[in-house]
Amino acid sequence: MTLQLGEFELIERIRRGQVVAAGSRTILGIGDDCAALALRPGEILLATTDMLMDGRHFLLDLHGAEAAGYKALGVNVSDIAAMAGLPIAALVAVALPRDRAEAVGEGLNRGVRVMADRFGIELIGGDTNAWDGPLVISVTVLGVASRQGIVTRSGARAGDAILVTGPLGGSLESGRHLRVEPRVELARQIQELAPIHAMIDISDGLVGDLGHILEESGGPGAVLEAEAIPIHEDAQRAALAGGRGALERALGDGEDFELCLTMSEAGAERVVAAFPGLRRIGWITADPRRLIRIGGRFEPWPAGGFDHLRAGCGRGGIATGAQA
Ligand SMILES: [Mg+2]
Repeated sequence: MTLQLGEFELIERIRRGQVVAAGSRTILGIGDDCAALALRPGEILLATTDMLMDGRHFLLDLHGAEAAGYKALGVNVSDIAAMAGLPIAALVAVALPRDRAEAVGEGLNRGVRVMADRFGIELIGGDTNAWDGPLVISVTVLGVASRQGIVTRSGARAGDAILVTGPLGGSLESGRHLRVEPRVELARQIQELAPIHAMIDISDGLVGDLGHILEESGGPGAVLEAEAIPIHEDAQRAALAGGRGALERALGDGEDFELCLTMSEAGAERVVAAFPGLRRIGWITADPRRLIRIGGRFEPWPAGGFDHLRAGCGRGGIATGAQA
């Protein structure tokens, strides 16, 4: 079956049909990096889930099961980081290819444990199946919010500075998408220094994910400054090989797993001084347009971003990236 809907339209349809009952513990449902449930006053549980498929998010034959396991847990931990939360536990469900279930299962387990140990995450359950299809891994991570509370996508306001935690672009071509570095500690350190108004982890590409912040924040616009965007050397290298330029890759490529956040300009000054890797890359505007300043010119953002239902074998498709 071909899905005519894009990923984001599909999520939006499901979200519109969601009914929140009176007395619900859900303080954040579908549509952010994590869901959030109020347990006791001051205690918020975060929950997030992500499914990774051989041929879509990794290539088992090329990358191996250990890398797939590491990434599968890492992308979920990154979603906890995007809420400034602390990951605590994970559940891992797998559909293993039957002809090599044991070897693949062991490799996955090794990769998952490396990531889990880095963040002190306990593996508390899951499900193991084997079938004649390709490897599929679904990971659910639970976390807790910081003392300061969760950071959603919806708090950006006109006048906010926009920041990113590291260089962007070219992660599919270089294989860096497999070596996820969730920014858990950094997000919490930033939040202790200055209130974060909105935050998201960059999985769909900077313009796509900053676009999610704008949509969830009631439709302000943004101006990005081309010269301030940190371009990863992977993007430079990929650009030299042809196709899209390095800036375009930094703006549109997916799976960097850096954080994009907004806060007051005063807060941004403080955090940029404290954390050298952080870059202020633009600002939020009341004007709903999405612009990028290149030299003296203002241009609309290039179309881009990574829609997982639409991305096929073309740009953004991992199968192409990894084979290139
Ligand atoms: Mg996310």
